[in-house]
Amino acid sequence: MKMLLKMFMFGIMLLLQGRGLWAGILDDVMKGKATVIDLTYPLNGKNAYWPVGNYASFKYEVIANIKKDMVFSGRYSTPEHLGTHIDAPNHFVLNQPSVDQIPFEQLIGPAVIIDVTDKTEKDADYALSLSDVLVWEKTHGQISEGSIVLLNTGWSKRWQNFEDYKNMDMNGRMHFPGYSKEAAVHLVEKRHIKGIGIDTLSGDCGICSDFPVHHVINSAGKFILENVANLDKLPPKGATLIIAPIKIEGGSGGQCRIWALMPK
Ligand SMILES: [Zn+2]
Repeated sequence: MKMLLKMFMFGIMLLLQGRGLWAGILDDVMKGKATVIDLTYPLNGKNAYWPVGNYASFKYEVIANIKKDMVFSGRYSTPEHLGTHIDAPNHFVLNQPSVDQIPFEQLIGPAVIIDVTDKTEKDADYALSLSDVLVWEKTHGQISEGSIVLLNTGWSKRWQNFEDYKNMDMNGRMHFPGYSKEAAVHLVEKRHIKGIGIDTLSGDCGICSDFPVHHVINSAGKFILENVANLDKLPPKGATLIIAPIKIEGGSGGQCRIWALMPK
């Protein structure tokens, strides 16, 4: 009987330890043992947005201030696809979840950072190729299921200047890097990632017509993060992402806060 009780207690201990291990990175954050990097640009009137049609810049105005009204308060308006934001699966494909319907489990996961800055320096229209993904995997191991893949193109250097960022030519065509359709298909079908992200205006490169990457990702019920900040501060793997999108009922996407958590 004593033996049984001992075994039972040992089992409970293992369970508790397992729970501790599982809590892992969040525990470390709370104890100050992890580094937190904010991958979000602050919202203001200079933020990049998709520069066509009815899209517009971010607007903020003070509607009450403490000196006059005893309280400080503002109101704002913005397109969903402005600044650091998420494209919900319904952005390009019918009958896919809207931004408020993406479950939390989809919005947390290990980050994979692929750096193509050397290629984009020579070619602003560079699209991440399937072979870039395979080369990354040769060094860092196969991309695990449930990862969130982020592409560092070096475009964050242009963030402060919207003209440089959209890089439009005389014919109104934009030139900035993105993913290729082949790379997106591979990540969805062979690696079962949760979503992708990039430090430019779009998952598709500026000159790509018909948004093939958006269609691949959204058709699979997955999301794209755009205008992601600080990707140059992340290691190729090892960070955990938390994405917190605004909950617009039925929305096609919207501003989100993105944190990367890394053990110190
Ligand atoms: Zn978007």
